[in-house]
Amino acid sequence: MKVFVDQDLCISCGLCIDTCPSVYDWNDDGKASAIDGEVPSDNEDEAREALESCPSDAIKEE
Ligand code: SF4
Repeated sequence: MKVFVDQDLCISCGLCIDTCPSVYDWNDDGKASAIDGEVPSDNEDEAREALESCPSDAIKEE
């Protein structure tokens, strides 16, 4: 599983970072970003929960 955050859609609510801080983090633009590469298998459930909970559908699975 790989995820990325569409920077044009992210509204900086912080929900994904609260839900799964090992995959999502703030970037220098004050938006959320996802780690590069494959999401560690231990974090997949949380990463997907964050994807499904994002209020602006900014998180996409590659
Ligand atoms: S949950 Fe969605 S809108 Fe909120 S910070 Fe994460 S990517 Fe941005």
